[in-house]
Amino acid sequence: MIHSRKFSQAICSTALVLSAGVFGPFAGAQVGLGATELAIEHVAGNVYMVQRPGGGGNIGAFVGPDGVLLVDSLFAPMTENLRKAVGEVTDSEIRFLINTHIHPDHVGGNENLAAMGVVIFAHDNTRLKFLEQSSHFPRNGGSFAPQPPAAGRPVVTFNDAISFHFNGEEVRAFPAPPAHTDGDVFVHFPASDVLHLGDVFRTTSYPVIDKFNGGSLRGTIAALDMAIDMAGPGTRVIPGHGLAVVGRAEMVAFRDMILDIRDQVYVMIRQGMHLDAIMAAQPTAAHDAQWGQEASWTAADFVPLVYYELGGAGRLEDRR
Ligand SMILES: [Zn+2]
Repeated sequence: MIHSRKFSQAICSTALVLSAGVFGPFAGAQVGLGATELAIEHVAGNVYMVQRPGGGGNIGAFVGPDGVLLVDSLFAPMTENLRKAVGEVTDSEIRFLINTHIHPDHVGGNENLAAMGVVIFAHDNTRLKFLEQSSHFPRNGGSFAPQPPAAGRPVVTFNDAISFHFNGEEVRAFPAPPAHTDGDVFVHFPASDVLHLGDVFRTTSYPVIDKFNGGSLRGTIAALDMAIDMAGPGTRVIPGHGLAVVGRAEMVAFRDMILDIRDQVYVMIRQGMHLDAIMAAQPTAAHDAQWGQEASWTAADFVPLVYYELGGAGRLEDRR
């Protein structure tokens, strides 16, 4: 039953992606995306967040007299409105872009920005994914997107911390443990006291662990621990998805929810339970109201990832 459900969903979402070039229902239809007004809001210090209606692919914008650095680029049809939104708070040129990971709602604007002379930075592993013939993504039981344009590939890649020095501040970008993907990058603005965590941290659903692109539960927990350790009481955190800028306490709550589910599933595996029995026991019951409401990523998607990574019998690949 699960096989057929997943299979038909995969077909549907493949059609969606091929026709719309987008990633899951939260990306919206590409038709009309260009007309989407993007909102810019002040986060702290010199950092702003640009957001499309409904949230998702949240962009960080570090602005000042020397230029603008963006974190992620949303979808291609939104670039003009992205530029307009940034233009509301600065006259400076957009000079740099950091991609937090490979997903289309974070790299879709790359080609347009590159054509404007913006220099694109990403983790080594993220650039490797730009070179693949097609991209495979986890939502809706698995979906595909065409290879991103060559002109949008990152020009500078890294596998250790790098720093940008302009606008009188240091901006640090560095690899997170492989969490959402194996190319995850965190961006820290120490002087402005802001963290942009890409999709490792979201406020809208259970963590999306993209096994097709090297994500892991263990890395998700380690990456969140890293971010929590870096955050102080006043740190503002831009989630990859979610309408609100939040703080350290929200990251702790997200991590603790993951640990609670992990621990429950682990005990059930040790008791000899297989995945279907564990799903029926609903180890996420206490969290579903808050974290399980995104139709394309619910407990039915998250729990199997936890189960298999903890060594439960069977293989995730066979379930899809
Ligand atoms: Zn993502």
